Amino acid sequence: MGVGSNATNGRLCCIAALCLAGLSGCGGGGSDAAGDGAGAGACTGSRDHYSGNALVDSLISGPSSSWLWNFRAVSGGFKYSFEPGVAVSVVPGAIAFNASQRQAALEMFAYIHSVTGIEFTETSGGEANLRLVNSPDRSRSVFTTWDQSSTYVVMTLESVLFDFGDPRPGTYGYLTLLHELGHALGLIHPPALPNAVDSNMGSALVCGTNVDCNNTPTTFGRNDLLALKWIYGADGFGGEYGYNSRCGSTL
Ligand SMILES: [Zn+2]
Repeated sequence: MGVGSNATNGRLCCIAALCLAGLSGCGGGGSDAAGDGAGAGACTGSRDHYSGNALVDSLISGPSSSWLWNFRAVSGGFKYSFEPGVAVSVVPGAIAFNASQRQAALEMFAYIHSVTGIEFTETSGGEANLRLVNSPDRSRSVFTTWDQSSTYVVMTLESVLFDFGDPRPGTYGYLTLLHELGHALGLIHPPALPNAVDSNMGSALVCGTNVDCNNTPTTFGRNDLLALKWIYGADGFGGEYGYNSRCGSTL
């Protein structure tokens, strides 16, 4: 597996990979549901913020989260950039993704589009709302954060624990990048559940004691998929279903 193998000290490595989340991404959920009036037509979706399914709701950011893109005036999906230039204001010394990291990200964009309907379009300059870069700080591990206009997924090329610089499918690097993209979509870490009721096979957003070090899925878990459906309605940003949409949310 090359530099940063997780062959030893697996559980600690899992925790390090998935939970040293840096500026953000490890927060708890919010509180109140936010109803904003029913839409017209034969819609039967819910206007509640939470779905009523505990496993799903444990993944959903609170109503005030800036990461729930259906609440933002954003159309056309994610405009992503691998350019480090603009990102340096948030990630000092940002280093561009290498070819392997870009390949992994592009695979995930296609996958996320297939399950959410969200479009991904590469852009340059200042208009990107999803930026993927490496931090030069090896001690920082990986994290996701945002400013007024963009979400930043920050990896590192030279983690002392993992080969984040070569995140091929089936590696922790790959799962970790998917985990961070889950944050970019507005998902949060679910709480630790007894007996690993739902490990990372149920959600790529789990961390800590629920991480199953023997499994490194390449896709979101069933709970993630339901949460994303609730938030975005499987028709991308805006659309008919999901938060802030005409028909509300459904599971
Ligand atoms: Zn995380």
